[in-house]
Amino acid sequence: MSYRTPLETRLAKKATRAITDFNMIEDGDRVMVGLSGGKDSWALIQILDVLQRRAPIDFSIVAVNVDSGYEGYQHKAVAEACAARGWEFHSEHTTIGAVIDEKLDPDKTPCSLCARLRRGVLYRLADSVGATKIALGHHLDDFVETLLLNLFFAGALKAMPARLVSDNEKHIVIRPLVYVTEAEARAYAKENELPIIGCCCPACGDLGLQRQRVKRLLMELEREHPNVKGSMIKALSNVMPRHLLDRRLNPVGELRDTVGARLDDFADVPADVPLIPLMLGSSFARPGTKPEQAE
Ligand code: SF4
Repeated sequence: MSYRTPLETRLAKKATRAITDFNMIEDGDRVMVGLSGGKDSWALIQILDVLQRRAPIDFSIVAVNVDSGYEGYQHKAVAEACAARGWEFHSEHTTIGAVIDEKLDPDKTPCSLCARLRRGVLYRLADSVGATKIALGHHLDDFVETLLLNLFFAGALKAMPARLVSDNEKHIVIRPLVYVTEAEARAYAKENELPIIGCCCPACGDLGLQRQRVKRLLMELEREHPNVKGSMIKALSNVMPRHLLDRRLNPVGELRDTVGARLDDFADVPADVPLIPLMLGSSFARPGTKPEQAE
């Protein structure tokens, strides 16, 4: 059975690769799709529906919509579109928006608290609908933006997991669009005439948010280097721990092998002074001098 359009063929291939690479969906799974009504979650449920009809394994799909309670949110449009396509659908009205307004410091951005609250609701809903997997619509752009956000603003080298087992090991979150770009997800949702709605959250589209800044940076880079995001997503599966500075990944004995030839430079450093920070300067600072500070 062939796919309906070249775009669908591309998305199907990318989603299948992700599902295979990370063992996301198995025979007998009941996959719960977090369906906000945004372009990404529509693209996700549409392509999963297409794949389900062709897959050599049996799995079922159920869409759940978490309404954060913002005025004007058109959850009925989501319900109607699912009904028209025969997709099982559940909606949950919450007061997440009001909780964020009440709990959040005015100088903080709401997105991480929002994500945590929504995650809690999704876990509860997964139990109530009997889901074995929770599929979220994060795409390639989300992965590389999160990588840069953590790098620039959180002092951590991490993106997000394509497949995550929750701390209590009861839930498995999957992100089948990890290789699909935001532009492809948007085009696919439009191609399928799915009703893209906004979340009506006041922070949505706030250009002051760090994520929006990172988005603009990537757009600028992409004009000069069209494959910059492709390279970044590839980098996430091509990690070289020995070229990083995390001593949990690089036991000191290993590091001594790597830089052994330079250790003589530090022979006069007292034994209680850690060597690695001294080496972090761009040109291996000499003992007694400060390593260069990253700007
Ligand atoms: S923009 Fe609004 S709805 Fe989206 S994650 Fe942030 S707080 Fe939540």
